[in-house]
Amino acid sequence: MGKVVVLGAGVSGLTCALYLQDEGHSVTIIGRHIPGDLDIRYTSPYAGANWHSFASADDKVTQDIDIVGYNKFLELASEPGAGVHIVPSVNFVRKDGLHEGKVKIPWFASRVQNFHLLSKDEYPQIEDFVGGWGMDSVTISTTIYLNYLLQKFLNKGGVLKRVEVKHVNEAFNHHQSGEKADLVINCTGLSARFLGGVEDEKCFPIRGQVLWARNNATRQVSVKIKGNYEGESLYMFPRKEGGCIIGGTFLKNQWGSKPDPELTKRMVARAEKYIPELIDPKLGNPSHIEVFGENVGLRPAREGGVRVEREGNIIHNYGVGPAGYQSSFGIAEKVIQLSKEFFRSSKL
Ligand SMILES: Cc1cc2nc3c(=O)[nH]c(=O)nc-3n(C[C@H](O)[C@H](O)[C@H](O)COP(=O)(O)OP(=O)(O)OC[C@H]3O[C@@H](n4cnc5c(N)ncnc54)[C@H](O)[C@@H]3O)c2cc1C
Repeated sequence: MGKVVVLGAGVSGLTCALYLQDEGHSVTIIGRHIPGDLDIRYTSPYAGANWHSFASADDKVTQDIDIVGYNKFLELASEPGAGVHIVPSVNFVRKDGLHEGKVKIPWFASRVQNFHLLSKDEYPQIEDFVGGWGMDSVTISTTIYLNYLLQKFLNKGGVLKRVEVKHVNEAFNHHQSGEKADLVINCTGLSARFLGGVEDEKCFPIRGQVLWARNNATRQVSVKIKGNYEGESLYMFPRKEGGCIIGGTFLKNQWGSKPDPELTKRMVARAEKYIPELIDPKLGNPSHIEVFGENVGLRPAREGGVRVEREGNIIHNYGVGPAGYQSSFGIAEKVIQLSKEFFRSSKL
């Protein structure tokens, strides 16, 4: 059994910590922010979050990582405390999104539940929409889920400490035993850019603005926006406890933490136009979108993709960008492989 410190209490750190406990290690999580906090330097609470893989058709590595997450989240939907539920998800396709005259089938079509092409009554008969596809996805109520992971970790004897380190090597001094840790897992997200001993300049933010709205939404919807609005899109994920998240933006290298009120207006107008069920009184919804929260989060992206790599007695796991939830389990499996190599080679 090894002494491990996980640096970071976002979805990446919490998931890895649980996997390391299952391997029999004694694990301490340290973090500047912990579940329950809201801060621009802590991305995890701001996510939607759903499963919608960004892996390209030829990126088998990311596909395999993401599909692990898909199956795990389907299982978690039957655990009442996890804040995860299975919902239908639809993606509307415009004419310019057709491939050789047909709706392009994503790589995961044969690996997810209930994949189908949309019938005419499932997508809006306006503008240049020509079809789309649907499947079963999951929505993760992120603040509930982060606390669920944390409680699981604590119940298994894990220790959480609110600690900020200036240099990654300081993390070795914070194991619960009072002794030096054997291994540190660096799950610091976007802050890996500034952390001493790491200072990875490949890390950059992808800014996302989201609205929290009150309604009885029942399916996830993704729509491509028309016009000159680079980095803007429309998506909506219903939450298990009611209400939904409306997104959003994918603005690279933007660090600002304040919601943009003009963008909020555009997001509301788009949602009312393209997802009319949100304002359908027959479904018990208000006649306009009732926003009760506007939030900004910074997706922790990295040129070249997520860094999952061992450097001596440190395993790095940061830079996962827009996919931190859906890939959390698949990446944790990779971290475990690296930790096994480490403990084998150091004979601890
Ligand atoms: C608007 C939005 C929508 C999103 N939607 C989705 C989605 O639908 N599906 C999906 O899979 N993903 C989604 N994401 C992405 C996902 O939220 C992130 O990929 C994920 O949260 C990253 O988690 P993390 O644990 O790596 O980083 P973080 O959550 O940022 O956690 C970093 C941790 O490291 C700690 N830390 C950093 N530096 C130090 C230090 N020096 N000392 C001590 N502690 C430190 C922090 O305090 C924190 O605890 C979305 C993100 C946003 C913003």
